[in-house]
Amino acid sequence: MEKVVIVGAGLVGSLWAVYMSKAGYDVTIYERRPDIRRADISAGKSINLALSTRGWKALDTVGIGDEIRSMAIPMTGRIMHDMESNLTYQPYGKEGQAIYSISRGGVNAKMMDLAEKHGNAVIKYDMQCTNVDVKAGIVHLKNTITGETSSDTANLVFACDGAFSGVRYNAFQKLDRFNFSQNFVEDGYRELLLPANEDGSYKLDKNALHIWPRGRFMLIALANEDGSFTCTLFMPHENHEKAFDRLNDKAAVDNFFKTTFPDFYEMMPNIADAWEDHPLSSLAIVRCYPWTAGKVALMGDAAHATVPFYGQGMNSGFEDCTIMWELMQKHGKDWEKIFSEYQISRKPDGDAVQDLSIHNYHVMRDFVGDPMFLLQKKIEAKFSENHPDKWMPLYSQVTFSNIRYSEALEVGKRQDAIMKEILKMPNIKNIWDSKEVENAILKAL
Ligand SMILES: Cc1cc2nc3c(=O)[nH]c(=O)nc-3n(C[C@H](O)[C@H](O)[C@H](O)COP(=O)(O)OP(=O)(O)OC[C@H]3O[C@@H](n4cnc5c(N)ncnc54)[C@H](O)[C@@H]3O)c2cc1C
Repeated sequence: MEKVVIVGAGLVGSLWAVYMSKAGYDVTIYERRPDIRRADISAGKSINLALSTRGWKALDTVGIGDEIRSMAIPMTGRIMHDMESNLTYQPYGKEGQAIYSISRGGVNAKMMDLAEKHGNAVIKYDMQCTNVDVKAGIVHLKNTITGETSSDTANLVFACDGAFSGVRYNAFQKLDRFNFSQNFVEDGYRELLLPANEDGSYKLDKNALHIWPRGRFMLIALANEDGSFTCTLFMPHENHEKAFDRLNDKAAVDNFFKTTFPDFYEMMPNIADAWEDHPLSSLAIVRCYPWTAGKVALMGDAAHATVPFYGQGMNSGFEDCTIMWELMQKHGKDWEKIFSEYQISRKPDGDAVQDLSIHNYHVMRDFVGDPMFLLQKKIEAKFSENHPDKWMPLYSQVTFSNIRYSEALEVGKRQDAIMKEILKMPNIKNIWDSKEVENAILKAL
């Protein structure tokens, strides 16, 4: 049996292990951390995530969608919380469409179980990959507890070791003509846990993603299964009136929440005490190419880490699995062909999901509370309802379809240009759902 090594048992690595085991490969995963199912540690960054159509497709293709569905909370739209504590609901898509809040640790642990159960994959913990000989498929390892070094040899190696991939850093970056860039955005994030009510019920509607947009920064909240919400504050690290470096003591934190997110503060008046429970973290976009060398391929964040503002990092990593799997169906075991086609076809989509994520950062931060933006979305939704063959809103293309990210990005740009002109029509606020507007869009298409 051909041997496969996967570096990293995170979300993508553990899913890819299920795929490769099912395909009949002998799979070993090396994971730097202890087993999250046994150790009392979090699965890393964000506690919960939004899973959407592309992610589900990858899970369903390998037959584990239903196992994850039982752990997922549907969110059918956004609820915006303004300064006066007014709420505005905006559906994400058509009726019946939703994105799903899932627990990173819960899903990761489940997929590890499935990888072991379905396909006899072996996961070795506390094993850090320190380098890879890409031509020979030799993976160099260090036990993070004993410091002991060892190596393993495989026919194929998949680096699923995340945004700061050791395989990319230690092996790929030493290769001739390997391109690489790493850009941190100005903003960082800090997570906060909004506990359940005493009776275990939710303090907010659990079937929506809550956003407190405040111009240059925002707070969001996604429900957990236990009645709590994981909330994330995104804001500049420094150099702004509202920035993390200004929230440097309990009084400042307390005052900030009281004055900026009054309804949130009411639910969590002890916010200042919980402030340090989770670290302040940074966000980066990492681009690189090629994604394969010799016997090794980069997948997920290792290939195309992005900022989390479209909720597509994991989804795009899962889609890498779908794409690689489809290529396996096409080329059998001709891995030279599979790797070549994987990186050529997928790289534009990796770039596009990063561009889309930055775009949505601005949308969430600056526009979701803007009446003209909400009007634009209403016009688009109405037009798309009447002409589903002519217009699918960008958010739906990205979140509720499997259209290539690169294609969605291009279509979205054309749609935006059209809508800019439509919003200039006189009296647009009153005629937004008229035949006149519909005809103007049809003409512009
Ligand atoms: C705040 C935040 C919110 C997010 N929200 C969403 C969301 O709503 N929806 C969404 O789709 N995406 C979201 N993402 C993105 C998502 O978290 C990532 O895209 C996803 O985790 C990528 O999975 P991965 O398996 O490639 O990497 P990771 O999940 O980072 O897993 C990498 C694994 O490799 C291990 N590892 C690292 N180095 C080594 C080494 N040298 N040797 C051995 N093991 C190693 C790590 O311990 C880890 O287990 C969010 C990200 C952040 C930061």
